Amino acid sequence: MDQPGTLAWIGIGGNLGDARATVEQAIVRLAHLPHSGLLRSSSLYRTAPIDSSGDDYVNAVALLRTTLAPLGLLYALQAIELQHGRERPYRNAPRTLDLDVLMYGNGSIASTELTVPHPRMAQRAFVLVPMLEIDETVEIPGLGPARGLLTAITDQPISRL
Ligand code: ATP
Ligand code: CA
Ligand code: CA
Repeated sequence: MDQPGTLAWIGIGGNLGDARATVEQAIVRLAHLPHSGLLRSSSLYRTAPIDSSGDDYVNAVALLRTTLAPLGLLYALQAIELQHGRERPYRNAPRTLDLDVLMYGNGSIASTELTVPHPRMAQRAFVLVPMLEIDETVEIPGLGPARGLLTAITDQPISRL
């Protein structure tokens, strides 16, 4: 029988403090999210800041199955960010931990608090490369196979840690 719940893709990143340790801890916290299960997590990757400043980022992606509603999932992610001292002094500021809802099933959501699929994910190698590590055939609702979007962003350096 099919498992209950929705597949949710989570983008993980940080570039303040020990970002590698933070991302690893965040994956453990995602594995303990209520009403959810961690199906897969990607390797950790190092990327240069885009539209941002500060040190290089450590990024990863996690795939959950969850019965949390989309906003409930967002709030749970924000609680984990706060546990890692996330502050938002200005847009795109360096951060200890950023957790984004990349996709929530095949759903499209456009509210003030939550836009899914994440509107900038298709332009970000630090999202697409770890997603493709988990699932070569993953498709983004409205955009199609993630694999085909990579060719447009080959200029973004990304290395597996
Ligand atoms: P970007 O959205 O470009 O990745 P960011 O992650 O640095 O930038 P934040 O400051 O972390 O931006 O988030 C700003 C707001 O974005 C949050 O308060 C949240 O309500 C909203 N938001 C909208 N859609 C999403 C989503 N899919 N995942 C996470 N937050 C989202
Ligand atoms: Ca983000
Ligand atoms: Ca965010």
